Amino acid sequence: MHQSNRIETIGFDADDTLWHNERVFRLTHARFAELLAEHGEPSHLGARLEAAERRNLGQYGFGVKGFVLSMIETALDVTDDRVPASVIRQLIEAGQEMLSHPIELLPHARETVEALASRHTLLLITKGDLLDQERKLAQSGLGELFDGVEIVSDKTPDIYRGIFARHGLAAERVAMVGNSVRSDVVPVIEAGGWGIHCPHETTWSYERHDAPIDSPRFREIGDLSALPALVESL
Ligand SMILES: [Mg+2]
Repeated sequence: MHQSNRIETIGFDADDTLWHNERVFRLTHARFAELLAEHGEPSHLGARLEAAERRNLGQYGFGVKGFVLSMIETALDVTDDRVPASVIRQLIEAGQEMLSHPIELLPHARETVEALASRHTLLLITKGDLLDQERKLAQSGLGELFDGVEIVSDKTPDIYRGIFARHGLAAERVAMVGNSVRSDVVPVIEAGGWGIHCPHETTWSYERHDAPIDSPRFREIGDLSALPALVESL
C-alpha cells in the first residue's frame, strides 16, 4: 500500500485491553450481593446496582470512586435507608481494595506494545479515575513505551477529534485498539480514524455495542499478538 496510507499513530485503550479490569468489578459486584443478601436475590441486586451506575455516569464519570458511591446509594435504596453502617464501611473498603488491586497484564500486551513502539507513535487513551489510571499505568511498566497518555472523561467522537488535534494527527493515520466497540471503535471511526476491536472475555454491559461491520476502517483481532501485522497491512 502507498506510504501515505500507512498508520502512524496507534491509540491503546487500557482497561481490559492491556490489563484486566472488569473482573475486579465483577468480584466487587458479588461482594455487594453477599453483603445485602437479605434484601434481594443477587440478580436483582446486581440489576439495581447496574442501573445506579448508569444513572450516575453523567455526574460521576467512569471509575471506582463513582462505583463506590453507586454501591452505597443502592444499599440505601434496597434497605429503605436502613443499611447498617458496618455494611457501608465494608463497601468503602471494597472500593479501596479495588484501588489498590495489583494490575495483571493481558497476554501479549507487553510484546505487542514493545513491537509497535519503535515504528509508531503510541498513545494510551483511557477513561476512569485519574489517579487510579495513573497508578495502573505506572504498575504496568509500559509507561515509557507511550508517547502520550490521555485520561479522558468519556470516549466520544469529539473527544477523539480533540486528541488528534492536540497531537497534530491526521485521523486517517490513527488506529485505536480496544475491547469496547462502543468506546474504542465506533467513535474513532466517526472521527475519521481506524477502529480495531480486541474483545475481552468479559465486557461490561454498558460497553457492548454492535460492531460497525460495514465500515471500511473497522477491524477485529482475536488478541493483541495479531496487532502488529494488522497495522502493517492497513
Ligand atoms: Mg477497555
